[in-house]
Amino acid sequence: MNENPVVIIGAGPAGLAAGYELISRNICPVILERDGRVGGIARTESYKDFYFDIGGHRFFTKNEEINQLWDELLGDDFLSVNRLSRIFYKGKYFNYPLRPANALFNLGLVESLLIFISYCRARLSPSPEENSFEEWISNRFGERLYRTFFKTYTEKVWGLPCSEIRADWAAQRIKGLSLLVAVSNALFGGQQSKSLIEQFSYPKFGPGMMWKSFMDRIVAGNGEVLLNAEVSSIQHDTKMITAVEYSSGNVTSKLNPSHCISSMPISKLVKLFKPQPPAEILSAANQLSYRAFIIVVLIIDTPALFPDQWLYVHSPAVKVGRIQNFKNWSRFMVPDQSKTSIGMEYFCNENDQTWNMQDNELVEMAKGEMVVLGLGEKTQVIDSYVVRQSHAYPVYDSEYKKSLQVIRNYLENFSNLQTIGRSGMHRYNNMDHSMQTGSLAAKNCSGESHDLWAVNEEKSYLEEDRGIREIPAVPEKVLIGAFARIDKLAFATAVGTICGLLVLGATLWIISRGGDVLNSHLRLLAQYFIGYTVTVKGGFIAFGYSFFWGFLFAWLFAYLRNLFLAVYIYNIKRRAELLSLRDFFDNF
Ligand SMILES: Cc1cc2nc3c(=O)[nH]c(=O)nc-3n(C[C@H](O)[C@H](O)[C@H](O)COP(=O)(O)OP(=O)(O)OC[C@H]3O[C@@H](n4cnc5c(N)ncnc54)[C@H](O)[C@@H]3O)c2cc1C
Repeated sequence: MNENPVVIIGAGPAGLAAGYELISRNICPVILERDGRVGGIARTESYKDFYFDIGGHRFFTKNEEINQLWDELLGDDFLSVNRLSRIFYKGKYFNYPLRPANALFNLGLVESLLIFISYCRARLSPSPEENSFEEWISNRFGERLYRTFFKTYTEKVWGLPCSEIRADWAAQRIKGLSLLVAVSNALFGGQQSKSLIEQFSYPKFGPGMMWKSFMDRIVAGNGEVLLNAEVSSIQHDTKMITAVEYSSGNVTSKLNPSHCISSMPISKLVKLFKPQPPAEILSAANQLSYRAFIIVVLIIDTPALFPDQWLYVHSPAVKVGRIQNFKNWSRFMVPDQSKTSIGMEYFCNENDQTWNMQDNELVEMAKGEMVVLGLGEKTQVIDSYVVRQSHAYPVYDSEYKKSLQVIRNYLENFSNLQTIGRSGMHRYNNMDHSMQTGSLAAKNCSGESHDLWAVNEEKSYLEEDRGIREIPAVPEKVLIGAFARIDKLAFATAVGTICGLLVLGATLWIISRGGDVLNSHLRLLAQYFIGYTVTVKGGFIAFGYSFFWGFLFAWLFAYLRNLFLAVYIYNIKRRAELLSLRDFFDNF
């Protein structure tokens, strides 16, 4: 082994992408993975040949390099899946984003009407205060729709009342499409939002196939992937990481890295530092929090339960937030097609009441909720399995940015350390962005200079990754100009004046030419402009008439055009907000 290898902490998508990039540059890394398998949060677990993910993982990216990498690694083992995921509420399936006909049919006429009235009320007299998520959504979609479709699910995900979730956080997550982008998308077409893709790729036996393939190639390229190797301390001299200590079973070993790339949670990383970082760094690390996740797999003795890959469960009567149906992702996820395996997903905090429930209690709860939801009978459940996942969701609370910055500033002192991935950067990175940061970190180890924190920043998240087509041929200025309101008075005066001048000019020109042919035609105007003659006086009379009619038509045109545009833009904006909302929920 190289005496000073590049040490990568974590064999999730980010760590493996870093390792693979290093191998392609003839640098042999050592990857230390705490778990007994590769893939991190994106791993595939298996139980009696039933395969399942920690939350279904869709493979979709706008990044061509990552796309190619995935294809290179899996090729024919990638399936193309048509997405179906609906809201399951009061025993009915609702399309999402909500479709009027489907919602009307499921909710009934009275409830739909009440929702519509509540929506109109919110639009006409919105609450002046917009401090909470509750107020923010209610103002845009009406309180009744908010209570029906958004409140319960959001509270399940975050474990907080919506009235305590800050509005600016919602706005940051939802604003998604700027009006300008939405308009240009509507006009010139564009691709769908990342979450709205109706088709995605998925490995035959789940994402674990991908990570195993990465591991095999890294090992074939003389890299090392050490499983069950938990990093327990990180030694430094305040400028460099000098040693990474890890334990495998009872054995503790040490590596002296040339570079260290870490994908473990950034808050945990600094706590492993020896000597310890200053108190303010540790305190900032304690401020960063994460939401955890439990998946209770129920194996059911039925060939089919529902056609969706997953369902959002908005009912407040049950704790389950989402239900995966793994054979609808890929039929290879179950060994026997007469059986179905579902994943009942519970959002929780590490060490809270749900997290600490015994496995058998969790299974009983999941079975009971399946019955409450009307999806099946307890007797149909023939087996079960439970997985707990800590650090599933980095929490974006009011303090996280400040705390993260404090830690980043401190870590910048270490010239041979880079943090990558989702928890490693405390950022809502999906697999593609996590892998991108890993690849770039590896490139940096061989002398390149990439800013990892620029990956998945607001701008690219909103415009590139949400698939909003860039429209270089239509610059912003042109769009703004095209959609500006027409000043009715100015426009009408201008048009009226031009019309008047045209007729006056024509009359004067005919008089000056003394011509008869046109004269006779022009004289016909007298039928419309009473008092008109082909004389100077008549010219001014025609000017008055033409001005009046020109003014009237132009004013009406401007009025209708402004009205149409206002309605059109309002519609696009509403649609954009609704679409971003689905994006918002899809990210959990
Ligand atoms: C429910 C859910 C659904 C998701 N769905 C999608 C999806 O559909 N599409 C998508 O693209 N993304 C999805 N994601 C996001 C995706 O899972 C992450 O982007 C990705 O797994 C992050 O990769 P990573 O390598 O940065 O981190 P991780 O996957 O967290 O990997 C970090 C690794 O570090 C290891 N580690 C931690 N501490 C130590 C230590 N002390 N010593 C050694 N090793 C350590 C961990 O065991 C882990 O293997 C989803 C996430 C969740 C939670």
